[in-house]
Amino acid sequence: MKLSISRYNPDEDSRPRLQDYEIEPGPADHMLLDVILRLKQQDPTLTLRKSCREGVCGSDAMNINGRNGLACITRVRDLKQPVVLRPLPGFPIIRDLVVDMTNFFRQYHSVNPCLENFDPPPERERLQSPQQREALDGAYECILCGCCSSQCPSYWWNPEKFVGPAGLLQAYRFIVDSRDQATRQRLDDLNDTYRLFRCRTIMNCAEVCPKGLEPSHAIEEIRMMIAGLPVPRGGLDVHSPRPPR
Ligand code: SF4
Ligand code: SF4
Repeated sequence: MKLSISRYNPDEDSRPRLQDYEIEPGPADHMLLDVILRLKQQDPTLTLRKSCREGVCGSDAMNINGRNGLACITRVRDLKQPVVLRPLPGFPIIRDLVVDMTNFFRQYHSVNPCLENFDPPPERERLQSPQQREALDGAYECILCGCCSSQCPSYWWNPEKFVGPAGLLQAYRFIVDSRDQATRQRLDDLNDTYRLFRCRTIMNCAEVCPKGLEPSHAIEEIRMMIAGLPVPRGGLDVHSPRPPR
């Protein structure tokens, strides 16, 4: 199997360069991450993040043949060769496939991603009806991998000012939560030329999300709520993630 992987060591390189590799995958190397880890035995200097290996932690997000995805849930047999691997675009590169996600998480924290409820805590949990719970579908599943924001041109140009699709999906998740009491403040905070309205509905975010989520749909609904328009509350669509190119 042929791969071409972006290498960058800030102590030695002035810019990233592609390094070619050829490796025979083992019989159990079904996923791209399996192959990369085998390659790492051959070249221990190759640097990447990974953790759960089953599409839950979001650590091994990278650009695979031009499109963002998670290496651990990308099937080797679906990939065109040579497989070109680059770090997530638009994020500062720390080394090889590892990017600096500081600004991504700063934007995430800027939407106050936690439940605001000022009523005295009940004896047990704060209850929701099945319909109220359904409103969270398509939003709560986000694993904060960064694939969407990294593939969003609006985020590339204004990472300090535009919250980005991942952060906005999380804002939506609390705006539509029946237990949250800060809806007005959340909408007022996002009613800004850059924070929300810099989204140009290019839809890259929904295209690359490895969980099949649609941040663009959430963004559209937040815009409608700010405009005072009625929004259907049945949860967002979740589609099967698109196969890699
Ligand atoms: S919306 Fe999808 S692509 Fe974006 S951070 Fe969440 S899981 Fe990742
Ligand atoms: S729809 Fe909006 S948030 Fe999604 S990629 Fe396009 S500009 Fe970015």
